[in-house]
Amino acid sequence: MNPLSFVRPNILSLEPYSTARDEFKGGDISVWLDANESPYPSGLNRYPDPHQKELKKAISTLKGIAADNIFIGGAGSDEAIDLTYRIFCRPGIDNAIAIAPSYGVYAVSAYINDVELRSVALNEDFSLPVEALLAAADENSRLMWICSPNNPTGNSFSRADILRLADSFNGMVVVDEAYIDFSAEPSLLADIATHHNLIVMQTFSKAWGMASLRMGMAFAVPEIAELYGRVKYPYNVNGPTQAGLLRRIAETDISPQVEEIRQQRDYLAKTLAALPKVRKVYPSDANFLLVKVDDADAMYSYLTEHGVIVRNRNKVTGCGNCLRFTVGTPEENARVVALLEKF
Ligand SMILES: *Cc1c(COP(=O)(O)O)cnc(C)c1O
Repeated sequence: MNPLSFVRPNILSLEPYSTARDEFKGGDISVWLDANESPYPSGLNRYPDPHQKELKKAISTLKGIAADNIFIGGAGSDEAIDLTYRIFCRPGIDNAIAIAPSYGVYAVSAYINDVELRSVALNEDFSLPVEALLAAADENSRLMWICSPNNPTGNSFSRADILRLADSFNGMVVVDEAYIDFSAEPSLLADIATHHNLIVMQTFSKAWGMASLRMGMAFAVPEIAELYGRVKYPYNVNGPTQAGLLRRIAETDISPQVEEIRQQRDYLAKTLAALPKVRKVYPSDANFLLVKVDDADAMYSYLTEHGVIVRNRNKVTGCGNCLRFTVGTPEENARVVALLEKF
């Protein structure tokens, strides 16, 4: 399967914008008069590296994948999601397929790009409806969004099921792994080498604790990763962000925090499940819990009145009377439990 066959023709023939420093091929330059920048140092007066070479090297080591497999979004993975539509879907013609319930940005971004999004409900137990997903496809289906672990249900899908989709779907399968650091399941990053129509997305917003920086990634075979580089805004990741993330990667081992969050998640799941007004806590492989209660709106209001905000998913199809609780610090989680014991 040649993934380039799914790309919009105008993107395939796109000449990327050539930045001031792209044409420069090394040498010992100490006077920079090529980009109409201010010569006066402000700490920010020079354009950043549009290709984020140093950062890609660091991410390559961190993730065990070559630098030319990596795209970095400076507006988080939300940027990668939007670019994916722009690279593969002809507006008003092509369509995409997504599971429901899942992350809301796939639908918003589809709408903005004038791409029809076909929603396929998860099975009752939130497992992947493989046959129904394949049945939803027609000759204009270009993308299939699989979020694993899935937001808001919290479960991971089986790697075998996702690879079966990649084998059978005549388009790109995008696996959104925003919560993979919390998961007991392996990432599908290594499967890109054998399944060329796979795109894997990850982010620094969750386990890495860098939501404010807005750094997301898409991983794909080099010829697809290169297309993201062509379509993105030339300087989509600003200088302080590149430097900040390099520092974070060099200085931080996130595993103790990830371990604590997983333990807290399991403690919270057990404790919430024992409360009288809780009907069900769904199994989670992420840093949040989907919880079915007697009256989600009432519990939500009660919590907000006591200074705690959770996500009310009551109106989401398949999530009636469900609240989504992000796992906080041990103190924050204890506070929520204490509040709910009195509810
Ligand atoms: C939080 C989240 C993201 C992260 O988005 P960023 O733009 O990188 O912050 C991506 N996908 C899902 C499913 C999420 O829940």
